[in-house]
Amino acid sequence: MKNKFSELWPSPQSRTGIQESVITELNNALMRVQTGSTTGSGDIEKLRETINAFDFNTPQDLSAVAKTVIGLLEDATVHTMHPGYFGLFNPSVTFAGVIADQITATLNPQLAVWSHAPAAIEIERFTIQAIGSLFNWPKKEITGHFTTGGAEANFTSLLMALTKYNTEYADAGVWAYQNRPTIYVSKESHLAWYKFAHHAGIGRESVRLVDTDGLGRMNPDSLQALITNDKASGFQPIFIGATAGTTNAGMIDPLVACGHIAKQENLWFHVDAAWGGAAAVLPELRSLFAGIEVADSITVDAHKWFAVPMGAGIFLCKDNKLLGETFRVKASYMPKGDESLDPYTHSIQWSRRFIGLKLFMSLATLGWQGYQAHVASAISLASQLKMRLEQEGWSVVNDSPLAVVCFVDAKADLDLPCVSEFIVSKGNSWISSAKFEGKDVLRACISSHFSTTEHIEILLNDLNEARGK
Ligand SMILES: *Cc1c(COP(=O)(O)O)cnc(C)c1O
Repeated sequence: MKNKFSELWPSPQSRTGIQESVITELNNALMRVQTGSTTGSGDIEKLRETINAFDFNTPQDLSAVAKTVIGLLEDATVHTMHPGYFGLFNPSVTFAGVIADQITATLNPQLAVWSHAPAAIEIERFTIQAIGSLFNWPKKEITGHFTTGGAEANFTSLLMALTKYNTEYADAGVWAYQNRPTIYVSKESHLAWYKFAHHAGIGRESVRLVDTDGLGRMNPDSLQALITNDKASGFQPIFIGATAGTTNAGMIDPLVACGHIAKQENLWFHVDAAWGGAAAVLPELRSLFAGIEVADSITVDAHKWFAVPMGAGIFLCKDNKLLGETFRVKASYMPKGDESLDPYTHSIQWSRRFIGLKLFMSLATLGWQGYQAHVASAISLASQLKMRLEQEGWSVVNDSPLAVVCFVDAKADLDLPCVSEFIVSKGNSWISSAKFEGKDVLRACISSHFSTTEHIEILLNDLNEARGK
């Protein structure tokens, strides 16, 4: 097909040429990135100068622009493709995920309504069911959708709960609730819950932070006590959000006990397994998630341990009708079809990218066995890191069965945020400091499938140097 605007869409031959030049640039950049500094070594002044040189009055060659952009990213980005990136769950990605994003971008299906993109939506439904099955949910009950990330999925769970427990909420808003709704998450949970309470209109003060057990897990006795107390004081508890794999420390709340309290008190039971959920690909680890089968909804991120490019989250639930009630809307211009399958009336988004293809193609090409090997390797490297840290006089303070290690100096009272800054500035590894149970810790997560024992030794070396300074 000839295009009158060859800049908008070049000929097949020039497209192939441009693709080849971009891929060559990317391959070369990756080679430098993976053996260079974890953060790039760019100077911000130079970066701004290069960006400011684009005045948009002089159209430029696409291959040249791509080369410039790749260079900028190479110089000034925390590199998640670096084997020394022990970071915040951001993965080194699967190549299948990259190819999937290119297919999605090129054919650009619109997933707002089923009738516009049956192929894409059916692929997503199939993938959602495969992920839901990891948590022992009966296949025919599994519904949900892909989201931009875990935050959107968690927000969705809260909106469903608010819609469920007062049938007037949809129209009258929070004023429908005679008693102020309250929600329960642990002190170690992902604190975006404050944002969702704010956005949903119940307010940040409706978030109850439940005490933990000293090891980062929600204390069910404290949970029960808070709920009982709130009920007696005229609040209406509606929601328990347990975390399976806390962001700080990879800890798993007692899901059986939390689920039991939720059923007893007639509350929504949500499990935030944004990062940790991927561990359920290993049959021997499924028992870690015992209790999740009674959850009303689950968050799993595909762009964390499932290693697909951002942004790709998953929201799983069992009640498609309530999902439809939560996001109902009618627009005369929207194409009609099987309305129970229309994403725009069952989710926060309207225009919708084919987010799920990245996970579908990664699963299709790696197979469960590929993901099992990937998750098992991260966990095994994390235990190795734990062991080596203890040998070198560091003390591991969390007890996660997953792949995050939180640690402190066993003897000295080091300024740990300073230590992580030192590590990052050296550029061999990337770790962070965090608070675990109220105390400063250093945090290293095996997040790159490129990491090996060699990179753990490099990290240890730098850590010891930081301590010796
Ligand atoms: C990362 C994370 C989130 C937020 O997910 P995004 O994908 O960043 O939106 C929520 N909960 C937990 C436990 C997380 O680790």
